[in-house]
Amino acid sequence: MTNEFFEKVVIIGSGPAGLTAALYTARANLKPVVIAGPVLGGQVAWTHEIENYPGFPGGTGAELAETMKTQAESFGARVDMDLALEVDVSHGSPFTVKTGNSIYHAEALIVTVGASPRKLNVPGEEEYIGRGVSYCGTCDGFFFRGRPVVVIGGGDSAVKEALFLTRFATRVDIVHRRDTLRAEPEMQKRAYANEKINFIWNTGVDEIKGVDNKVNAVQLRDLKTGETREYATQGAFIFIGHDPNNDLFEGQLTMDEHGYVVTDNLYRTSVEGVFAAGEIQDPLWKQVATSVGQGCAAALSTEQWLEKREQQPSTVQPELDVTAKVNA
Ligand code: NDP
Repeated sequence: MTNEFFEKVVIIGSGPAGLTAALYTARANLKPVVIAGPVLGGQVAWTHEIENYPGFPGGTGAELAETMKTQAESFGARVDMDLALEVDVSHGSPFTVKTGNSIYHAEALIVTVGASPRKLNVPGEEEYIGRGVSYCGTCDGFFFRGRPVVVIGGGDSAVKEALFLTRFATRVDIVHRRDTLRAEPEMQKRAYANEKINFIWNTGVDEIKGVDNKVNAVQLRDLKTGETREYATQGAFIFIGHDPNNDLFEGQLTMDEHGYVVTDNLYRTSVEGVFAAGEIQDPLWKQVATSVGQGCAAALSTEQWLEKREQQPSTVQPELDVTAKVNA
């Protein structure tokens, strides 16, 4: 049996942006419904420690997401642990969102579906996912107790996860394509001071190899000399950035050349009544704090839009001002 819901505000995604939008729209008495997605908190659920979100001096991402959810619910938000499979915004408001068992009709939609880890796209990567290839140290680190692993990438994710993996692994080699890290200085300092972490600079990974269905080596390429060598390891953790989860909106919302949903200063998308916040529309900062701020702003814009619409139902959204945000 299909459930059918008629809502004022539906939020797709339950990361910090989505749960903040839920809190604000709930406090505006709009009784928002969050379609949470595969896991409460989105990417934050996999973060083993959050240290840079003000007012939350330490704890796991999952704990932060649960606290945000409880707070939003206490003001009347509903969080459905369900997965949006189809969205239709092509006919204007009300919009429809379909999940496996339900259809939601929403006067306003807030899109906070986030981003996913980028793939290296080398031979062996797909084949050994779950057999030594991982995109989440928090989830899989435990399986690598007493084993050596490599971490690929040089940004905050790579270094943070490498530090976490030292709790389990005998040795963590960070393989990076340049000879300087992109990660924030504090994180770099900790990595350089950690005896278990070793750096393999100016190096790419051409292939992930295995025997008996398990990773046993990576094929490395020195990017300066072109020399290749096989390097023994039992795990390959890949942290080379993220891509926006835009599948549900392709051909429906305007996106930039990298697939991020384009929003203006009010977090409006190209479709009137559809707002977006967090990493689906932010290629730059990707912090819990920035996502929270964007979720809040998108919720306030939604609230204002619904209010104006009730007063003047025929109001037309002015043209999306992309440059205003880009130049801000
Ligand atoms: P980033 O884009 O910051 O870093 C990606 C890293 O992977 C870079 O070092 C990049 O190399 C490398 N890379 C990219 N593509 C390839 C490739 N095809 N092959 C090999 N290496 C590649 O991504 P992150 O996921 O680390 O971080 C995303 C955002 O999230 C950032 O804004 C970051 O600050 C934030 N973040 C913050 C955290 C925190 O605790 N403050 C924790 C985690 C993420 P190069 O440097 O040469 O470009």
